[in-house]
Order: sequence, then C-alpha cells, then structure tokens
Amino acid sequence: MKKYDVVIIGSGISSIISGLILTKHRKSVCILEQHYTPGGYTHSFTKNGVMYDTGAHYIGALDKGRPFHTLLTYLDIPMDGLFFPLDRHGYDILEFPSFSVEYACDYEQTISNLSTIFRKESDAIRRYFDYVKKVALQFPTYEYDSSYDEASMQKIMNTSLQDVLDTFTRRPRLQSALAAYCTLHGVFPKDVPFGIHAVVTDSLMHSVHGLRNGGQAFVDALLVRFKNQGGELFMQEKVVDLDIENSLIKKVTTASGKHFIAEWIISGIHPKAIFSFVRKHLKKAFTNRLDNIQESASFLTIYGEFKDVKHFAPLKNYYYFQQESPDKLIEVGTASDTPSCIFLSHPNTLDRKTGQTIIIPAKMEWFKRWENLCSNERKNDGAYNSIKQTIAQKILKTLASRGVSIDSWKTLDISTPITNRDFNGSIDGSAYGIYHSIDNTGVRALGPRTHIRNLLITGQSTLFPGMLGAAISGLRSCGHLIGIRSLLEELKKIQHTNRKG
Ligand SMILES: Cc1cc2nc3c(=O)[nH]c(=O)nc-3n(C[C@H](O)[C@H](O)[C@H](O)COP(=O)(O)OP(=O)(O)OC[C@H]3O[C@@H](n4cnc5c(N)ncnc54)[C@H](O)[C@@H]3O)c2cc1C
Repeated sequence: MKKYDVVIIGSGISSIISGLILTKHRKSVCILEQHYTPGGYTHSFTKNGVMYDTGAHYIGALDKGRPFHTLLTYLDIPMDGLFFPLDRHGYDILEFPSFSVEYACDYEQTISNLSTIFRKESDAIRRYFDYVKKVALQFPTYEYDSSYDEASMQKIMNTSLQDVLDTFTRRPRLQSALAAYCTLHGVFPKDVPFGIHAVVTDSLMHSVHGLRNGGQAFVDALLVRFKNQGGELFMQEKVVDLDIENSLIKKVTTASGKHFIAEWIISGIHPKAIFSFVRKHLKKAFTNRLDNIQESASFLTIYGEFKDVKHFAPLKNYYYFQQESPDKLIEVGTASDTPSCIFLSHPNTLDRKTGQTIIIPAKMEWFKRWENLCSNERKNDGAYNSIKQTIAQKILKTLASRGVSIDSWKTLDISTPITNRDFNGSIDGSAYGIYHSIDNTGVRALGPRTHIRNLLITGQSTLFPGMLGAAISGLRSCGHLIGIRSLLEELKKIQHTNRKG
C-alpha cells in the first residue's frame, strides 16, 4: 500500500489549499472526498443550463497585494477569468426597515455613506472603522507577518464586537449597520471576538469579487495545479474510520473499504465529525467540551432566476434586515417566522449564465421529521416539499413588502439544512461550522494540533468562516509541517512586491 506524506480528508477550500501548499513543498499528498463534486461549500451545480453557487457568492481580499490574491499568487494559480469585481462604489446594499446604506470597497466612502444617515455620529463611525483597520492588520496569517503582539491579540480575541460597538455608539440602528457582517460569520455581536469581525469586514473593504464561472471553476483551477504538482484526488471516498495506535493514526478507512496510510493526516471536515472517529482516545474533558460546542446556524437557499432585474443594480448584493437591534440581527426563529435577514446574491449582467440565490438563516430542527430520509424519499415527500414552498413563499412575500417584485422571480430549487448536511457533512447542516464565539476561537480554538499526534485539523471551524478564513486555516495547518515562519516570509515578500507594483 502506498504511504503518503499526508492524507487530507475532505476537499473544501481549506483542504485544497493545504494540498497545494504541501505538494508545492514536494510532499506526497492525497485528498479523500465523500461527494461526487469536489469543493465542499465552494462547489457549484447546474440546473436547466443555469449555474448556481452553493456557498461561494463573493470574496474579499482579491486585489493585487491583498491576502487572498497573495496566497493564490504564491500557489501559482492563474487568476485570469476566475473572478470579476463587484461594484467598488457599493457592492453590498443593506436594507434596514428605516434606512438603507451601501458598503463600498473604500473605507472613506463607507464612512461617508454611513455618516450621511447618522450625521451626529460621523466621528464615532470614523473611529470605529479606524479601529477595524488597525485590528485586522494585527493578524499574522492575514498580513503575513510572523511578528505579532501576543497581548494585543489576546485583547482583540477576548473582547466582543458588542463591547467595542458600545464604546463608539449606543444607537442600536448604527450598531446594527456596523454589525451587519455578522451574517458572514454567523455569530451575534455579543459573542463574536472583535478580531474576527474586523478581519471579515476589512477583507471586503479593499476589494470584492464574484466568481465568474462559479466556485466550481475556482475549485477546478486549484485542483489542476494540485494534480500537476503530483497530488492525488479520490472522489466518493467517505472516511468512516481512523485506526489509532499509541496516539498515532495508522490507517484511514473509507466507506468503500479502501485504506490509506500517511505520516500525517489533515482533516478539513467538521471537527465533531473527525473527532467522532477517535473519541475513545480523547480525554473526557475534551469530548465533553466538544459535545457542548454550539453549531453556527444553517441556511435555506432558494435557487432561481430573475426574468427581469430592474429592481437590482448589477454587481451588488442585497441584504434585507427585519430588525434594527444588534442582538436580533441574525436571529433564527421558527420556520413560520419572518426571516431576520434575507440575502440576495448579486444579479449580474455579465456574460455567464448564472442564476441568483436568496438565502435565509435556518435550523435543522425545522426539518427534523425528514432528516433520516434518503434524498430520493425526501424529493418525493409531499410534506417536505410543501414546507419548503411555504418558507419560500414567506420569503418572497417579505421581499414584496420591501418593494421587491416577486413576479419577476422564478424558483427552480430550494435547499435546506438537510441538503447542506448531506453534500457537505457539516453537523446539522451548519453553514459556518462551529459557532465562532469568544469561547471557541483564539487560544481556545480547536486545532490545528490535536491530541492525536499525527492529526491536524483545518477548515472554517478552526479559524474563521468564509472562503478566505478557510483558505488561511489551510495555510496555518500546513505551517505545522513546513514551518509557518518561512511560509509567512515567502508570502510577505510577494505581498510587498505586489503592493509596490
Ligand atoms: C449558503 C452559504 C453561502 C456562503 N457564502 C459565502 C460567500 O459568499 N463568500 C465566502 O467567502 N464564504 C461563503 N460561505 C462560507 C464558505 O463557503 C465556507 O466558509 C468555506 O467554503 C468552508 O470551507 P472548508 O474548507 O472549511 O470546508 P467545507 O466547504 O465545509 O468542505 C468540507 C468537505 O469535506 C467533505 N467531507 C465531509 N465529511 C467527509 C468524510 N467523512 N470523508 C470525506 N470527505 C468528507 C465534504 O463533502 C466537503 O467537500 C457560505 C456558506 C454557505 C453555507
């Protein structure tokens, strides 16, 4: 049996980035993926000739000299044709019940947009964004700077977004506008470390791109490079067991009965899923902690098409919030409640045939009745289809009440937390993995190292969610095998050259 240097479990963006870094450093690597399409939440699918993204709608930090661009340059990924810029002057339109504001790829413009609405708070708005900028720069794997100040890192990871907001303004409406990107990590302002919120916000404030031919084209480009560097990818190989001796994984077993062996294993699947295979080798205190870690919310997605996009400017996303209080911003109630937030991906007028998605936060418990049915049974289950349609109608009705015409919308498909769980393996179909509260991040984060000596974990649950967060988590995990300092130095050089150019 071939022995690899590294077996990587899962083919989400964090796993593929790990595979690329390791093969670039001449390690022999294979990736094992359970699904028939690689990419995890970055994968796309096509229906009636129209392409849809599952979890890759827009990405930040892709301008030359920004962190994601730097990482892809380092990995020799040809980026031409993969991405296109959204509207720099206003890529996200946040529609609140009593006001609307645009976020732009420019701190000054965003500050000015918000200051026009909250005139008396313009100084607070500026100071808040100055602080976001300053905090984001402190992350070593974001700025690619291996020297960082431990004490200030601790501070920004131990202080909640809500605490920071309270120091700048007490107005709930303004706080909600500043906390709107809680939608992008799924954590309430009172729970999320300010550091995470700052990086997520900063990554979008310089550049925002859509994926020209969907997340799949991006995944495919990464995999071409991975294979060219000698990496191997095995599809429909679901890992079901890990054999352990003396706290070392000796063998990885898949559902098809195949075995894989390696010096190191990197898991890019949900941490609770990987630790379930090695539970008896873990300390009770750790498994108790793991069992009590909350999941991030899941999403319900309507895939469809606008017959007529006159309501929407091209190259912009739309968020419709129902609440103007930060503690309610991303609330997930029952299936019959009006959704707290509706996200509408950018209607674009570019040359590709791409549909739009409408996304709301959702819970597995809404669909508990159907969670043990196989996908064909669910497809034919009248009650399941009916609850999906009822929720979709409610969303469209809510949009109509906000002035968005539903006549021009054609629904093609609706996915639920069960769909997410099935194609992605995330627990309860969680969109962003574990709930990234202060208790689960920073020094208290799970991984990359684990109690199993040759098991590293990566992925959105180990750092922060989003394609950028997951990709950087891959870099961080590989740092344990290759040396994080030298990796950061190589990246820093590229970033420096690109910023000068
Ligand atoms: C609806 C939605 C919209 C989103 N929109 C955006 C967006 O616009 N921009 C953005 O940056 N981020 C977005 N995200 C988040 C982003 O997609 C994720 O943070 C990121 O893709 C997670 O990557 P990952 O590497 O952690 O792994 P995942 O994408 O979770 O991949 C895990 C992989 O492991 C595989 N796997 C699981 N179990 C096994 C097993 N036992 N054996 C083998 N393989 C297994 C799965 O099939 C999957 O391929 C969105 C997420 C969702 C759900």
